[in-house]
Amino acid sequence: MSSFTPSAVLADSTLTHDRLDDLAERVRTVGERSSIDVRTPATDERVGVVPACEAADVDVAVERARSAQVAWAERTPRERAAVLFRFADLVLDLREELLDAIQIETAKAREHAFEEVLDVVNTAGYYGKDGPGLLDDRNRTGPAPFLTSAVETYEPVGVVGVISPWNYPMTLSMADVLPALLTGNAVVCKPDERTPFATLLLAELLEAAGLPEDVFSVVTGEGSVVGPALIDRVDYVAFTGGTETGRVVAERAGKNLIDCSLELGGKNPMLVLDDADVETAARGAVKGAFTNAGQLCLAPERIYVDETVYDEFLDAFVGKTRELTLGVGVGYQGDVGSLIDERQLDRVREHVDGAVEDGASVLTGGRHRPDVGPFCYEPTILEGVEPDSQVACEETFGPVVSVYPVSGVEEAVSRANDSEYGLNASVYTRDTKRGRAVARQIDCGTVCVNDPFTVGWASMDAPMGGFGDSGLGRRHGEVGLLQYVESRTIATSAFGPMERPASLPGRWFIRLSSGALRVQTRIRRWLS
Ligand code: NDP
Repeated sequence: MSSFTPSAVLADSTLTHDRLDDLAERVRTVGERSSIDVRTPATDERVGVVPACEAADVDVAVERARSAQVAWAERTPRERAAVLFRFADLVLDLREELLDAIQIETAKAREHAFEEVLDVVNTAGYYGKDGPGLLDDRNRTGPAPFLTSAVETYEPVGVVGVISPWNYPMTLSMADVLPALLTGNAVVCKPDERTPFATLLLAELLEAAGLPEDVFSVVTGEGSVVGPALIDRVDYVAFTGGTETGRVVAERAGKNLIDCSLELGGKNPMLVLDDADVETAARGAVKGAFTNAGQLCLAPERIYVDETVYDEFLDAFVGKTRELTLGVGVGYQGDVGSLIDERQLDRVREHVDGAVEDGASVLTGGRHRPDVGPFCYEPTILEGVEPDSQVACEETFGPVVSVYPVSGVEEAVSRANDSEYGLNASVYTRDTKRGRAVARQIDCGTVCVNDPFTVGWASMDAPMGGFGDSGLGRRHGEVGLLQYVESRTIATSAFGPMERPASLPGRWFIRLSSGALRVQTRIRRWLS
């Protein structure tokens, strides 16, 4: 057991140091390991420790997962779905402890922490209900009607590795873990070293919901040690994090010839069209840019506003942003919480200071607030940002957004698409049909009309992912489930090998086959 100066942040919560110690014991190591401090960004105090796992620990976790997976895959999809439904109930029952854990580890506002709880329940419910049907065998068309048939069947890939980040430790692990489990895989998850307890709590709840031992396990430690070890041992890797790390993960997965999904960064545009309801757009901008202090891959960081509504929008947006309160700690302390650590704070300061040096104006915010929390930074709106300033091109991942006037939809779309990223965009207009038409022109995996990101992310039935440097693959929906299976085609011929009958000369075979193919193509064209 570790000894700590009691933390004021923990004192306000349902969690104790002993409870966190117990959770850390869920991580199995082969021998003695050094430990990693877990600190709360609310006060920068140490609240717990977890083991710094090494490759040998990952080896054992994956081997145990491999053994446990066999019996898990033998259960029917509906039996596996029942575990997900029980898990969803437990998450709701124990939400206060989960919210406390998220707030301790991330110092985000409680309302923003609650979005994680909602999302985990939504994911479990969606895959619990729709997952089993999506795994049913599918009849496919054979090459010769009536004489041949084909059926597609699905097998779990085996052991899935999930590498998850710190900004949404519950949402961004479970978005991959739950569909991977439903398809009959075992999962080994490596949470970010700053936020392991949120994932360990969910591991406990999955077990309480009836998930057999070792089907889901957690390995903690440094990404550069545990990450590669995991990728070398699993059959699929689902990664969420920064684009640079994503490239390293993809390269390693490629060398191992395993498939991977990558949800990476974004420099998300928001478009306010000339017919937008300015109040709605301003509310969307506040929610989008400052949820979780902007540490959200879907958050808008560039807002293009039609010049005819620019001043009106800016007044509303700046006014609402000034009303936001900052706060840290467990409970309902403020509208916006803290950044995760010093490094993230430095990045935010560098982006804002650099933009100002290049000539930008700070319309509101722009200050570090150590009086609230060591890594707190005010919600910040910039105007007059130079196109080549760092804040204009690189992901800030903080409470900073730049606003630009544009001369119409064409310019807005062209500037929105002027980015290496393509994760999420939003369009504000009173005419939703027009909004959807503009959305089709934007090179992003999700485009939300009159909402910053929630309507897209929470549409669980629809895929979610990025164009360009924002990633590979999609989560959610059918594609988010079937990425965790190997498909097998079982094709049957009713007349033996598909070859030229011995009695038919080659010339006649070619002539007859060509005629039959021509008829088949005509029928296909007619049916198309
Ligand atoms: P990282 O990409 O470094 O971290 C994400 C996860 O990857 C963590 O669990 C990390 O582990 C792990 N990791 C680190 N190195 C490796 C590796 N070599 N192989 C496998 N896994 C590894 O993100 P950062 O926290 O450094 O954030 C940097 C930037 O990335 C942010 O400023 C933001 O722009 C972006 N980001 C985007 C996110 C998104 O939701 N798309 C989420 C988080 C960050 P550990 O940290 O424990 O070492």
